[in-house]
Amino acid sequence: MIGVAVLGSTGSVGVSTLDVLARHPARFRVVALTAYRDIDRLYEQCRVHGPEYAVVVDRAAAERLDRRLRSDGVEVEVLGGEEALNTVARLAQVDYVMAAIVGAAGLPPTLAAARAGKRVMLANKEALVMSGRILMDAVRDSGAELLPIDSEHNAVFQCMPPDFERGLSEVGVVRILLTASGGPCRNMAAPELASVTPELACAHPNWSMGRKISVDSATMMNKGLEVIEACWLFNIKPSQVQVVIHPQSLVHSMVQYADGSVLAQMGNPDMRTPIAHALAWPDRIDSGVAALDIFAVGQLDFERPDLARFPCLRLAYEALERGGTAPAVLNAANEVAVQSFLDRRLAFTAIPQVIEKTMQSLATQEAGSLEVIHEADRQAREVAGRLVGVGAKKGYA
Ligand code: NAD
Ligand code: MG
Repeated sequence: MIGVAVLGSTGSVGVSTLDVLARHPARFRVVALTAYRDIDRLYEQCRVHGPEYAVVVDRAAAERLDRRLRSDGVEVEVLGGEEALNTVARLAQVDYVMAAIVGAAGLPPTLAAARAGKRVMLANKEALVMSGRILMDAVRDSGAELLPIDSEHNAVFQCMPPDFERGLSEVGVVRILLTASGGPCRNMAAPELASVTPELACAHPNWSMGRKISVDSATMMNKGLEVIEACWLFNIKPSQVQVVIHPQSLVHSMVQYADGSVLAQMGNPDMRTPIAHALAWPDRIDSGVAALDIFAVGQLDFERPDLARFPCLRLAYEALERGGTAPAVLNAANEVAVQSFLDRRLAFTAIPQVIEKTMQSLATQEAGSLEVIHEADRQAREVAGRLVGVGAKKGYA
């Protein structure tokens, strides 16, 4: 039996992960579940999946969950506080860790899992954007496995030859074509974008996701973060990652080879496919996702992205070019700006402005240690927080 810890189990990816795990009770055992403070959902998950541990970051909520589980006779050890996330990520009985916490808060437990040599199933792209070098080194040094959950990167992984880590030019890979749906604002004219509301931004045409990544999809910062993610995961140059708008979200990404071949991975837009792939790899298991009806699809469209209407994508390429702490600054400023937008304190079109100004006001340092990265993250939150007129907010419930 493979022991699995699901970090961020109450979120969109977490719920999809538990759905896949429940289809294979003879193969997987849920060891730990974690949430920020949504104890109603975590309580239900504890009853259904019977983990050994449940972590709640908010300590008062952890105590409430503990009392409730005890009084109902459900045997789960409840731990409170941030540090407990690292504890469960390192447990000896945990073989696989699903890193599905949103934002910078996911970095410490993801890194703990990598350092402990686990199979890390990475949904939390922000961790890699902030500290790509450190995370990739930790994976290599501990012998951990890093499998991408982000649908595009999972698609790329599936289209790569098994020995791609020898070097992409060695194996004949010339480009990654990273697809993007374009999000709910794809066809809006520039003046319309200023009045985009949180409701509209979160109404994604093809994917159902958490609120933060939904806004990132609408601004296209999600694709910017994913370009950075791709560079780290596949050791590829930014100039070799081409973003392609593909509104149907059926081709999840492509890999182009020296001989002219382009391999694509397709499927219905449902996160249970990449989750099942990473859980079973190198095998294949049922995910619960309906088979793609290729005749109903009919047509696939591909367009160039518009960097003028969606400056977040340009800012991500700039952060990549600067390197060092610049991607961590980009990520932190984005988290602050997105939260302010969701709280209706910032216009949609001001999101890239806050990020750009924050990047301009902070010098780039070499991202040699976690301390340097955390300091860059803290400073960026402070500057961006001032720019949106409030103190920086930490994390998302
Ligand atoms: P979500 O908001 O639905 O869930 C986030 C989870 O993280 C919840 O369990 C929440 O309790 C927990 N959490 C939030 N703040 C926390 C904190 N400060 N400390 C500890 N835990 C905290 O998010 P999601 O849509 O499931 O996305 C999770 C991650 O996966 C993100 O990094 C996102 O970019 C990535 N991702 C999501 C999708 C998707 O389809 N939802 C697709 C690709 C990648
Ligand atoms: Mg994605």
